[in-house]
Amino acid sequence: MALSGRARRRIQRAFEALEAAWLSDATRGALASHLDERSARRELVDLGAEHPDADVSTRLAELDASLTGEAARARYVERHGALGVQRFEAAGGAVILLLPVETFPDHVNNIYWVRSASGTLLFDVGSGSPTARRDLALRFAVAREVFGEPARFDEVDVALVSHAHLDHFGGANDVRDETRARLAVHELDARVLACFSERSILVAKDIDVYLRRAGGDLALRQKLLSMYKGSRERFRDVEPDLRLKDGDRILGHEVVHVPGHCPGLVCLRVGDVMLSSDHVLARITPHQFPQAITPFAGLEHYFASLAKVRELPVRLTLGGHEEPIHDLAARVDEIAAFTRRRLDDTAAALSAPRSVVEVARALFGEQKGYGDLLAIEEAGACVEYLHALGRLKVANLDEVTREVDPVVRYVTRT
Ligand SMILES: [Zn+2]
Ligand SMILES: [Zn+2]
Repeated sequence: MALSGRARRRIQRAFEALEAAWLSDATRGALASHLDERSARRELVDLGAEHPDADVSTRLAELDASLTGEAARARYVERHGALGVQRFEAAGGAVILLLPVETFPDHVNNIYWVRSASGTLLFDVGSGSPTARRDLALRFAVAREVFGEPARFDEVDVALVSHAHLDHFGGANDVRDETRARLAVHELDARVLACFSERSILVAKDIDVYLRRAGGDLALRQKLLSMYKGSRERFRDVEPDLRLKDGDRILGHEVVHVPGHCPGLVCLRVGDVMLSSDHVLARITPHQFPQAITPFAGLEHYFASLAKVRELPVRLTLGGHEEPIHDLAARVDEIAAFTRRRLDDTAAALSAPRSVVEVARALFGEQKGYGDLLAIEEAGACVEYLHALGRLKVANLDEVTREVDPVVRYVTRT
């Protein structure tokens, strides 16, 4: 059975407790849940027994060997990283460090620090939550103390936000307050940062209208909207310095615009390595929104953007979450096939008339909390695309004609 995200994090946390021996006292003191060495070892023995496929005992043996000298330690760090930080080299000489940061509870983002002859760049800036800030400071310290890199948050030249989702850009306020870095984001997502409060209010209205048409009753709408608003109270509007377009070069790296998951989503090509953000991820399929809520998103854009990156000469793909991807084309094909199956499931669910909320229930079952909104958006993206392709029609057109605020029900065209 595949390892769950939770098990991965527990294994990683226990290894981090042991790897912390490589850090200075000051940095070690800043570690959050510092397990002592004995508990970490006990935890790893238990986790190894629970998950025999995870190679916990081999890695533990390698870690013990790393105590014997520099070369063994370098081998361990090369294979497993240190406290979650991993180092990669791109053709052309750029060095890339993956810095994992917990942006929301149990939600980890990969932030990348890229050093090349032209300067240093941060790809994504985390959520700006206290945990994310602390995590990022710790990973920068690891970059200096274990990897010997001159990596400092306050000395970054460019902070590039891959797209306007809070786990990726919420730290932009810290960039503005604490660094001299130029803040860069694609032009289609620039407004989200610059006019965040205005946009949040408008989007909440759009979501409310959408949920109404989708068959959400008042209680559901109020619940989902209060969660949507609650998640976005902290951010202050910040004006980007650079508005990116497809094909732009930034410190010599190429911006690749890949709308779909988000209108202004960009990947960055650093030599033969691609930072793919949420466009292509190793395990999960990126969340989709209907264009009715988010213009320039939607499945038509997503499929086109998958095709766009599939043929790029990329040796290694580093996602905004999860592990590195070694075969980009194969992963793109998997994601596209998965999404097409979901479209077929949606069409099957609509052999009888259903609203979007009912389709979401049929596809994903009852969801708790924010997951409910995500399920409705995902189902909505599928329904919208199938409708645009002419595979669906409105089942209750008389009612839609008559009513001021109708729930729209769809059914497959036969
Ligand atoms: Zn995202
Ligand atoms: Zn993300």
